[in-house]
Amino acid sequence: MSYFEKLRLLPVINQALDALEFKKPTPIQEKAIPIILKGTDVIGNAQTGTGKTAAFCIPTLTYLLNNKAKAALILVPTRELAGQIDRFWKALTQFCPEVTSIVITGAVPMATQLKRMEVVPRLIIATPGRLVDHLQLKNFELRSVGVLILDEADRMLDMGFRAQLDEIARAVPQKRQTLLFSATWDGDISELAKKVLSHQMVRITAGKTSQAAQTVEQALIKTTESGKRDLLLEEINAERGQVLIFTSTQAKVESIGNYLEGYGIEVNSIHGGRTQGNRNTALKQFREHKIKVLIATDIAARGIDVPEITHVINYDMPQIADDYIHRIGRTGRASLEGKATSFLTLEDETKWVAIVELLKRTGSTIPKAVTKRATRAANIQDVESEMEVALVKNRKPTRSHPGARRENQWAKGTVNVKPAHEQRIKPKA
Ligand code: ADP
Ligand code: MG
Repeated sequence: MSYFEKLRLLPVINQALDALEFKKPTPIQEKAIPIILKGTDVIGNAQTGTGKTAAFCIPTLTYLLNNKAKAALILVPTRELAGQIDRFWKALTQFCPEVTSIVITGAVPMATQLKRMEVVPRLIIATPGRLVDHLQLKNFELRSVGVLILDEADRMLDMGFRAQLDEIARAVPQKRQTLLFSATWDGDISELAKKVLSHQMVRITAGKTSQAAQTVEQALIKTTESGKRDLLLEEINAERGQVLIFTSTQAKVESIGNYLEGYGIEVNSIHGGRTQGNRNTALKQFREHKIKVLIATDIAARGIDVPEITHVINYDMPQIADDYIHRIGRTGRASLEGKATSFLTLEDETKWVAIVELLKRTGSTIPKAVTKRATRAANIQDVESEMEVALVKNRKPTRSHPGARRENQWAKGTVNVKPAHEQRIKPKA
């Protein structure tokens, strides 16, 4: 008897799990599925890559197969995540394709979505913004929804969807089952849970909440902003698998992309400024191994599951400490070994201190900073300095910007910055 068989799922689901080669449930699946099957409201807290999607899709499909007049609604923060869940749903329903799904996100014209809604879907996967637009126009209603699922609820709150979530919760029947999934657990999430879940809810955690995945080997490299590019190139060249790069802005995504392309590296990118078509193509190419490198900003990359990435690079430190854990959670998924390399500049020091606090608090491993200079950069510098001898006569003296000395010492590793609370102010002599 397979592990999944112990959960007594319907044959069409077991068949699909076989086809998907899911041999045994992950810890969150093992804990959550039996409880969700009973109809209980559930909060699921588990780190990224632990199989939360199947944890809520399997019992939801069971419900829909047993209740032919009912529908289910999954809310997600991004279009990509909606597409990803839809793909998993199609795989899960391959032996019961009559349990149809529809994706409702901002990328597609509303009229097209309405046309598709004419065949009443059993599962709606939606981003809150577009769903609320349809509801306000009374394009359709959600009276048959018996299960409401909020996936990546923490990120939906971060993205400012609180009012929309309230509105949707009011539009679905009171008598329903609600499931809320989140990688993190804090005051905001518990407040949301109080609002949308019944009082008899059960909270299920697997692994420490928001803990960095243990299968990921973390590296931290001290450098300067200008030193990052060469280091990046070196990391990518040393890596045989695929690399996912995170950076802070859309403009930086573009410029790093151009830089790497200049070295003949196949790259594509996802960020909020690109069309949905372009973003989908980029993800598809990455998933199909047609490109080696994908560059992304945090929001665009949230929740995306690209199973085979071996290496995540934090070109910039994330603004929000939690995002560090989410980012490195993109590798080492489903217990694959992975590697995460982060570049640390003097400017990002306070962000790093906050990340270290979070890693400590969640009992995660904290990487030690190393100083590394790209060998390629060093070679180029040698060549340049010889050239400089020739050029030097014609050059005006340059003055380095204030703080350049400290920045240099930082990159060389001769300055060791302590967290703010450990720094002592020296009394003036
Ligand atoms: P999460 O939402 O918790 O971050 P996902 O649901 O995206 O994680 O799952 C991560 C990966 O693990 C996916 O590629 C998924 O197909 C795979 N996976 C999930 N459950 C199992 C299982 N029981 N056996 C094998 N692989 C699984
Ligand atoms: Mg997920």
